[in-house]
Parts: sequence; C-alpha cells; structure tokens
Amino acid sequence: MRTRSSVNTSSVARQPSVPNAISSIRRLHSPTPKRLTDYGGSRHTDSVSTFADLAAAAYCPRKLYYRRRDDEFEIPETVRAKRRLAFRYPNLAAPDSDLASEPIAVTPTQYRANLGCLREHDAWELLAQPDRTEVLLEGKDARGIAHKVDDETPTVSLVSAGEPPEEGVWAPQSVRAVAAAKALAWESGESVERAYVEYPTHGRVRTVELTTRKKARYREALARARSIDGPPSRIDNDAKCDACEYRSRCGTKTRSLRSLL
Ligand code: SF4
Repeated sequence: MRTRSSVNTSSVARQPSVPNAISSIRRLHSPTPKRLTDYGGSRHTDSVSTFADLAAAAYCPRKLYYRRRDDEFEIPETVRAKRRLAFRYPNLAAPDSDLASEPIAVTPTQYRANLGCLREHDAWELLAQPDRTEVLLEGKDARGIAHKVDDETPTVSLVSAGEPPEEGVWAPQSVRAVAAAKALAWESGESVERAYVEYPTHGRVRTVELTTRKKARYREALARARSIDGPPSRIDNDAKCDACEYRSRCGTKTRSLRSLL
C-alpha cells in the first residue's frame, strides 16, 4: 500500500473539483485539442495566465512580452530528454543502469548517490510513482501543465531541465510552482501548502513552501502578466540578460570573449 507524503491542508477558495477535472480531460482529448505546449508556453487568449507566463513575468516582463508575440513555443528535444529522466528514477537508480549515455549533469556515481537521497524524500511516491503525469491544471487565475500530480493528498511537482541553485529554487520556478499548487488546490477543493521542483539531470528535488512571501511574489507576477500591453522596459541585469533567449532581439549587448580581449 502506498504511503503518501504529508501535505497540510487549510481553507482556500473552493470549487467543485469533478466538473473542472472532467472539463480539463475533455479539452485535452477533444478532436482538436490545444497543444500541451500552448499551456507550457505563453499563448495569451484571456485573463487567465499560463504558469509559463508567470515564470517569465517573474524573470523579466519584457521576456513575457516576447513570448506572447511568438506564434508557437516549442520545447527543444534536448530539454524533453532531460525532463524524461524524472519519469525513470527507479530504473536510473538500478545498480546496472547505464548512466553514461544519459543526459545527466553530474558523474554517474554522484547521480546514483543523489537518487539514493531522493528515495528517502517525503515525496518519493509522488516523484517515482505519481498518480498522474503531464496534467493540465486550470486554476482561477492560471493554468498550465503539472508534470506529476498525486490526488489522494493533492500534491504537485514540476520538472526543470536546468541546474538547481545552491539552495531552494530559482525565483521564476518558485512562482511557477506556487501557480501549479494554487491551480491544483482550485481543482481539488483542498489546500496545497507546498509544491516540488525536480532537477532530474542532477537527481535533486527542492520543496517550495507556499509561504506568505512566495504567494506575494506569485500575485506580483500575476499582476505584471495582466498589465502588459506593450513592450516593457529592459531590465538592468546582465546575468539575466546573458541567459535570456531573447537577448538578440532585445538589443541587449552581451560581452563576448572577443570583446573582453
Ligand atoms: S534580454 Fe534582458 S531585458 Fe531583454 S527580455 Fe531578456 S531578460 Fe528581459
């Protein structure tokens, strides 16, 4: 029998869960379904933002503006391959698994050790054997894809192909995780007090508690996303701009090695 990770519950805005769940499933399986990437991306059709919109707004409002102007947002295959690791932890942790050919970012020895730590994690059941995967969650204010969901005690996890910070999660991922937790709470009619962010190329998972501060940042991103009706100013943050996929069209000058010589 499965044991569940402990997730606190308290009162939040409640909605009937079943009709919402059924309507989500119908949308996903309708003859002309929206692409999942529409929800992972930033197609903006109404006042409900996508999780990706909010993460982009938290990173840089101008980035969100560019994302919305893109017709399509395709997730690169390299990113998909890294994310797929998150759905194979038990196999990857096996002593005879061939990790040399996997897109991991640490040594096989370190990776196995990290997966060994994951097995002791409170959320191991969600991480290794979730009730649902690639779930479209539709909340009151935001919708998007949650990579793993458990239903008995509503719990959600998002998968990142990137590197984890030293501690916690990156700020845009925190906003995205809060959005997913709030959307799951809205659909299930139960409070969700934390979400998880997985970094499968490192075999790490981080917990995002829905603290007052994190919820405030979520609301701030929501307000930003709703208010954008033209190109916002560039931000003054070289580190962010250097890592931004829109830096060439944004006109941001990045310092190449040649320019430093
Ligand atoms: S390059 Fe910098 S200012 Fe431009 S969208 Fe990206 S993060 Fe924002």
